[in-house]
Amino acid sequence: MPDKSINTTCPYCGVGCGVRVTLDEQGGISVSGDPEHPSNYGRLCSKGAALGDTLSMDDRLLYPEVLGTTTAWDDALNFVSDQLQSIINEHGADSVAFYVSGQLLTEDYYVANKLMKGYIGSANIDTNSRLCMSSVVAAQKRAFGTDTVPGCYEDLERAKLIVITGSNTAWCHPVLYQRIVKAKKDNPDLMIVVIDPRRTSTADIADIFLPLKPTTDAILFNGLLHYLADNGEQNSLFTSHCTEGLDDALNAAASADIASVAAHCELDASDVEAFYRLFARTERVVSVFSQGINQTSSGTDKVNSIINCHLLTGRIGRPGMGPFSLTGQPNAMGGREVGGLANQLAAHMDIANPEHRATVQTFWQSPHIPDQDGLKAVELFKAIKAGQVKAVWIMATNPAVSMPDNQQVREALSECELVIVSDCVRNTDTSQYAHVLLPAQTWGEKDGTVTSSERRISRQRSLLPFPGESKPDWWIIAEVAKRMGHAEAFDYSEAADIFIEFARLSGYNNNGQRDFDISAYADLSYEQYDNLQPTQWPITSAQPQGTARLFADGRFFKPGGKAQFVTITPRPAAVPTDDQYPLVLNSGRVRDHWHTLTRTGHSSRLSAHISEPFVEVHPQDATQFGLTASALARVSSRWGEVIVRVNVSDHQRPGSVFIPMHWNDQFTSRACVDSLINDATDPYSGQPEFKHTPVSIEVYEPEWYGFILSRRRLALKNVTYWASSKGNDYWKYEIAGSELPQDWASCARSLLCSAEQDVGWVEYFDNAFKRYRAARIVNGRLESCLFIGPDINLPARDYLADIFVKEELSDKDRASLLTGKPPGDVEDRGKIVCACFNVGLNEITKAIKEQQLVTAEAIGKVLKAGTNCGSCVPELKAILKGSS
Ligand code: SF4
Repeated sequence: MPDKSINTTCPYCGVGCGVRVTLDEQGGISVSGDPEHPSNYGRLCSKGAALGDTLSMDDRLLYPEVLGTTTAWDDALNFVSDQLQSIINEHGADSVAFYVSGQLLTEDYYVANKLMKGYIGSANIDTNSRLCMSSVVAAQKRAFGTDTVPGCYEDLERAKLIVITGSNTAWCHPVLYQRIVKAKKDNPDLMIVVIDPRRTSTADIADIFLPLKPTTDAILFNGLLHYLADNGEQNSLFTSHCTEGLDDALNAAASADIASVAAHCELDASDVEAFYRLFARTERVVSVFSQGINQTSSGTDKVNSIINCHLLTGRIGRPGMGPFSLTGQPNAMGGREVGGLANQLAAHMDIANPEHRATVQTFWQSPHIPDQDGLKAVELFKAIKAGQVKAVWIMATNPAVSMPDNQQVREALSECELVIVSDCVRNTDTSQYAHVLLPAQTWGEKDGTVTSSERRISRQRSLLPFPGESKPDWWIIAEVAKRMGHAEAFDYSEAADIFIEFARLSGYNNNGQRDFDISAYADLSYEQYDNLQPTQWPITSAQPQGTARLFADGRFFKPGGKAQFVTITPRPAAVPTDDQYPLVLNSGRVRDHWHTLTRTGHSSRLSAHISEPFVEVHPQDATQFGLTASALARVSSRWGEVIVRVNVSDHQRPGSVFIPMHWNDQFTSRACVDSLINDATDPYSGQPEFKHTPVSIEVYEPEWYGFILSRRRLALKNVTYWASSKGNDYWKYEIAGSELPQDWASCARSLLCSAEQDVGWVEYFDNAFKRYRAARIVNGRLESCLFIGPDINLPARDYLADIFVKEELSDKDRASLLTGKPPGDVEDRGKIVCACFNVGLNEITKAIKEQQLVTAEAIGKVLKAGTNCGSCVPELKAILKGSS
């Protein structure tokens, strides 16, 4: 068999990069960027490049399980349909709900939405996209009449000014960030403004950086609106012919002069003025925004405050300009298109619109169509807790981790009459509550489409054999629908059948009335579907090659065809800080991890960059609260508490702290940040306020600190803190305990091995300094090691990690093992900075010093670091800065 290449799409962020997968004769796969895909032109970030590492069968869910017993598909599907139908018969359609995901493919999403809204007759289907994008949806609909992203990625290269606000693009949308970096390199006149309370890696390329006070974004953009109008930057032709509501919006912003904006946002007035002046004088400006704007209790208003500035200047729909929302998930956009939100219908139609309801119902020939919105995510889990919703089917998402105030979500699930979970992973924080587990296929196995942030529909293609009895999500849903009596409506044999039906619906009764129209695909053959090329919707008979930009003609989808200025009265966060909880908690992503670690947590390459959950605090706060870098801290809010490692950084604002969102009970003892997050939501979108929860912080002082490296995954006992991460051939555990054991030797044995494995120990115990070190060497190979001390001063893990790959320890390795230091002639690479080429901090600092390197490019030439995905370039620059 010759090597075979398949083009598909990355399953992580909303950039939607094209991936080329090559399968070799031995069944091995290699992954590279698709050079022809217009999202990435061959680039991949560290996550995309490591996709091949994440295809392991570890912890895969392979067979259906009902009430804890492995079951045949037929029995599981009968059980699900019988139980759902019986609950519906007894309590009505609204007593059941689906909670779905931006990880689903469009075809899966469409079928789930059709079953719930058209055939069960409830709108109780919501998605985890509620947590990241719903404020953009609400804001775009208020302004444009439709949920339309007006521009495209190419605008970033054609802009003269890019304003990046509330987005750590460098880490969360790395390939787009690299496109911006290149655009700036090619055109040094391109100006970049970064607005964020945190100085993230994205600010590395900023000409102006505005570290504004959390939640004051709408004040800043109201001020910009006022400034633009005051300085003659209004595009009067555009505003008079193409918009409504300007006067009210300007009146609401009238008091937002530079001095008051600067005072409210806690910025230098000169910096605010410099930003306003730059925006005013630059015609081609793109405003990029993401979760920092969306994930607050006034996220919808914040998005509209940005859109208002583009409407005032008429900078929308033309090359190099416009507001640009970056979506978090690979198919958040596809979910919006099929009506995956509880207040939408398929093909961008609205539940509130009777004509839309009639259109969808007639097209589907369905018995029902809801005329009331369903429950949005936070409301949905509250309704489950209240017993109002009695059955929930969770697909491809992990709400026990990712929902705000997730302890309440866990309680709701534990009390729910019927919890069905479709997933590819067996053990998640959510699956432990499931009565039914249904094995779904995952990336590399499933077949369908996704839509990126720029409205580009791309194919995810099946490349690998399906493991166990896993099935596509659409198949599982359709089989349940058939058993509920709807065989004809769900008679799909391929993902293509669903996509074609969806394409027909998008054009049905449309006539240019609705933005979402892919009717050019209404008659695709299977072969054409297989070969579908990445294309931006609308895709119609008039525009068969797709559409890069919308609104260039000044026509919007509001009644009357005009865009709407939204009057913005900035609001503070829902829950203010106080004496008990004086700090603002912000949560978000780290560079190399994705969501709840179910995929990236199993890659040693991706776990090397940041392997442990942390709280980042400003040095002033560290001093005030007595915190030491690398020690542990307890962070508490009214909703919960976590214990995490302290990271001191002046990239934080004083008074603010950051904790990443990824860690959960499968990887840590107590570090799930969403257990701290308040459940306040935006009144228009229902999006929760992940970016602002008042918290307190204090030292967490264990009796001892330690770490373990082990070839086996361990179930730890006798520790009060643990955080695990995958290494090359081993699992690493950072641990701490609140009680000193009577006997370290027995404690080590209980942690690391069973009675039968109690061989091969090398041990060292220093009673005076309370240090214990042990290693198990079996058949000449290091099996596990444990280092304990009274404080955080423990050996670096990296050298020990390196000797795990050795099949036979050398005498030198054995001699130096319990010192935790490499033998004299072996270099310790230090913490990994470049995940693509496995380059450590010590190697970089040594090269900088010895070879007098002064640029990231020079480091790349010597060590290759930063020369693949570029995600670590900001860190290389920070290291250079620290070394200078
Ligand atoms: Fe995947 Fe990275 Fe591209 Fe996002 S930027 S789609 S994570 S390769």
